[in-house]
Amino acid sequence: MRFDAFCERLSRLESLSADTDVVAAVAALFATADADADLPTAARFVQGRVFPAWDATTLDVGPRLCYAALARAAGPNVSGDDVESRVAETGDVGDVAAGLDLGSQQGLGAFTDEASSSLTVASVDDELRALAESAGDGSASRKEDRLFGLFNRCTPAEARYLARLVLGEMRVGVGEGTVRDATTAAFEVPVDAVDHALQVSNDYGLVARVARDESEQGLRELSLAVGRPVQAMLAQAGTAEEALEAWETVAVETKFDGARVQLHHTDDETWAFSRNMADVTDALPEVGEFADRALGCPAILDGEVVAVDDDGAPLPFQEVLRRFRRKHDVEQVREEVGLAIRLFDCLHADGDDLLDAPFETRHARLESVVDDPNVVSKLTLASDLETVEAHEERALGDGHEGIMLKNPASPYTPGRRGKNWLKRKPDVETLDLVVTGAEWGEGRRASFLGTFEVSARVEAGDRARFAPVGKVATGITDETLADLTEHLEPLIESESGKAVDIHPDLVLEVGYEDIQASQTYESGAALRFPRLVAIREMPPAEADTLARLRALSGRE
Ligand code: AMP
Repeated sequence: MRFDAFCERLSRLESLSADTDVVAAVAALFATADADADLPTAARFVQGRVFPAWDATTLDVGPRLCYAALARAAGPNVSGDDVESRVAETGDVGDVAAGLDLGSQQGLGAFTDEASSSLTVASVDDELRALAESAGDGSASRKEDRLFGLFNRCTPAEARYLARLVLGEMRVGVGEGTVRDATTAAFEVPVDAVDHALQVSNDYGLVARVARDESEQGLRELSLAVGRPVQAMLAQAGTAEEALEAWETVAVETKFDGARVQLHHTDDETWAFSRNMADVTDALPEVGEFADRALGCPAILDGEVVAVDDDGAPLPFQEVLRRFRRKHDVEQVREEVGLAIRLFDCLHADGDDLLDAPFETRHARLESVVDDPNVVSKLTLASDLETVEAHEERALGDGHEGIMLKNPASPYTPGRRGKNWLKRKPDVETLDLVVTGAEWGEGRRASFLGTFEVSARVEAGDRARFAPVGKVATGITDETLADLTEHLEPLIESESGKAVDIHPDLVLEVGYEDIQASQTYESGAALRFPRLVAIREMPPAEADTLARLRALSGRE
């Protein structure tokens, strides 16, 4: 499929507002994505993704690199700073890219005909994948060169969507739900077959292709693959009373304060995946060592890595972050922070997919697969409040942060924050908010970003926006500031004086004293005394919503 034809469809999608029209238009796009490879690519691109959800590969192209590539393609009269200030004015890199006169440079095979280009969906995909592979010294300039090469060949409409695609903000109102419904409609397959296929494969492109080529039967035959992560099942806040009322018998477990890990093990390899499905195996050698020692068959297990002191007692979550995702000095930092794994679920064991089995059965399978009882969470089956509270007291007494209440009969539902897992923490509620701005520090902290503007998610279908609700400047150590700066600097979209706008990507857990009505913020809500509790391993799409803040403040 030609890239300009694809972009033409995106442009039409962007003008639609009713969800049903959007689904119909995406279904029509899928039905015409003719060549075998184009359908999976189109199913990803339309969501602003280059890689499937299970694949943690990123383009690693920040706003500034993209602006520099655009500026080069726009010729000598435009600089990266010009592009940056236009984006700051219009708020949309796509509009800015479409308004530039690209490909005007001489002697670079520049594209001159305004009406069409030689790009195809497949060639753009190939180029972006090649770009993602550049790593190490000089990779930023190699990425810029490739991106420049692409922009240089783009029509204005293509530049609009390519710029948005590389920055992961397609903004045409198509998210996972739309692609699921469009796949169902385009290939006339039952929605539960599509849901099953998505849950086990975590790959919208693959599912669209199987729906087209192998229909319902093919979708139902898709299964979990050891080595390919699935989305983690999520929990809601809840109480013991709610749980007992809903299920009669409640499975109570300790809530471990660490980082979520999905462990995949075959006879010759072990992987650890983070909650965002990043491969963190190399940072956590303890996980591989544990698997070699205690697992005797292929398995996919769900759990948490926790930091422990020399006696095995839990240490605060911040300590885990020093180890998680670390690429250098792993052994050295391991000397300072030891990790232990705690497992609470079993998704696959020895050839059996267990997503649909009841939690109680999965937990029993976990106990039989893991040859180390200390690592498996202890279940208390409770049918009265006293039993739940006794477990809670023990857990808190041992230094854990709370308990989990689970429906013993419930299946494992990847990616869903359903009512079958409830978390109960005795502390006041915290909020998960997205960093959308910051300020450079002063004096000793001049090279660090500090004073982080945090925003709540405004739910508007698939067109999520983020509304500022406060500034976090307290509760941050120098080490955390350095971590935050390293993470946020490539996400800077624009700067004015000391203030920077940040592309929404990083989620912080934020504590506060109160939520107040605000004249300053357009959101109408402001946190009183916000403070950093932790950096979250969570995509912005799962951050807390403005509606939730309003509900917590008792104004709705
Ligand atoms: P929260 O991070 O506060 O939303 O709480 C949910 C998280 O608690 C899960 O995503 C897990 O990472 C973690 N967790 C700790 N212990 C358990 C457990 N026993 N069962 C399920 N999740 C747990």
